[in-house]
Amino acid sequence: MSQYLPTIGIECHVQLKTKTKLFAAVSNDARGAAPNTLISHICLGMPGALPALNEKAVELSCKAGFALGVSPQKFSKFDRKHYFYPDLPKGYQISQFSDPVVIGGHVDIEVGGEKKKIGIVRAHLEEDAGKTTHPAGADYSLVDLNRAGTPLLEIVSEPEIHSAHEAKAYAQKLYLLMKYADISDVDLYHGNMRFDVNVSLSKDAKKLGTRSETKNLNSFKAVEKAVEYEIKRQAELLESGKEIVQETRGWDDAKQKTTSQRGKEEAHDYRYFPDPDIPPLNLSDEYIDKVKKDFEKKNFYTIREKLEKAGHLSDDDLDTLFNNPEAVDFAVAVIEGEDAKPGPVSKLFDWLINVIPSFIEDFSALTEDKIDGLLALAKAVDEDKLVSTKAKDGVKQLFHDTSFNVEKFISDNQTLSDEGEIEAIVKKVIENNQKAAQDVANGETKAIGFLVGQVMKESKGKANPQLAQKLITKRLQG
Ligand code: MN
Repeated sequence: MSQYLPTIGIECHVQLKTKTKLFAAVSNDARGAAPNTLISHICLGMPGALPALNEKAVELSCKAGFALGVSPQKFSKFDRKHYFYPDLPKGYQISQFSDPVVIGGHVDIEVGGEKKKIGIVRAHLEEDAGKTTHPAGADYSLVDLNRAGTPLLEIVSEPEIHSAHEAKAYAQKLYLLMKYADISDVDLYHGNMRFDVNVSLSKDAKKLGTRSETKNLNSFKAVEKAVEYEIKRQAELLESGKEIVQETRGWDDAKQKTTSQRGKEEAHDYRYFPDPDIPPLNLSDEYIDKVKKDFEKKNFYTIREKLEKAGHLSDDDLDTLFNNPEAVDFAVAVIEGEDAKPGPVSKLFDWLINVIPSFIEDFSALTEDKIDGLLALAKAVDEDKLVSTKAKDGVKQLFHDTSFNVEKFISDNQTLSDEGEIEAIVKKVIENNQKAAQDVANGETKAIGFLVGQVMKESKGKANPQLAQKLITKRLQG
């Protein structure tokens, strides 16, 4: 199998976060809506209905361009893509063919410690089709047009991905870029991002083999597994001297395999031509600059770099943080504040990533009025005035108790650092825990943790734990 180089290109349909459809003033949120309730004469493709372009969709596609590292095209236009299917009442989809809104760009990925840039060919605006369902046992199908006309941005990668792991990393990174810049709700379960993977194998790295396209994958795992499956399937065919057929395939999640759906399709099958109902897009420099300025506040790469420097965060911590855009916004507000000193900021970020998510239900609880209290607690820990575990109690209270007074909490729970006082507690703890004390005296270091824990309990969490440990060790091991 290793004699073949797999090459993968990914097309992703991103549902844009607009209130209404791409060409009609009809709600775009089809989740939970009864079939065919979010429709108009435009969605139905009635004769004479005139589409009007949604400006928000244009703005979001421009932001997507910036997120991919390029400025949007000043000129782009819409084309009709013809095909016949019951979920497409007009008989054509409005898309962008020759002049898409975004050309070029890249997505940075990292797999196994190795960094790679995956090029982007283009990203074009288009409308979604409706949905057909086939009731079990019935001799008819049902059509729901709620989704018809939903704005999509189709992002097409260069065939520069060479493994299932890279394919998954690409999909995940694209998700983060779209999520953080607020371009899409990225609700994968509801199909807000749908991936099509083109997979081919070749013995000659300079020449691409015949590809299969597996469509409509809506999870990172499905992307990875479908690519893995296709690489294996194609390698086995080639090994046994057979040829790969260019075709569209589907993913069967239950069986974890791809299955053939239909044969080869080429662009000329769609009879593309410019849509005469929609004027071309001519974006002014002023407009593009304005969108860019807006986008910079949500620029994944620059903000990630800023947070990394301010909080000395690891890549894993940053990945966790970026899964919650509200937490990122909060972190940015923290470092932009006047009192942001490196020590307390690192501590606060540690809580933000590892502690706070365990007791807040939703990240909208991260309001900026919490910053001062959290920084005060973090500063107290940094200056050894508060034991870390005690401070965590304070953090929790800060989010749950509206009358929480941070100054009072810190003074009531001041760390006990007086050697004499701690010595007295240590003495008492050792007297009450002879067995553990004997174990420590015999060199069993594990038992020290237990005794330190008892000292903490006895001091109501206030004793300086390092000092307690030092005094226990000194007393028992000399
Ligand atoms: Mn498409």
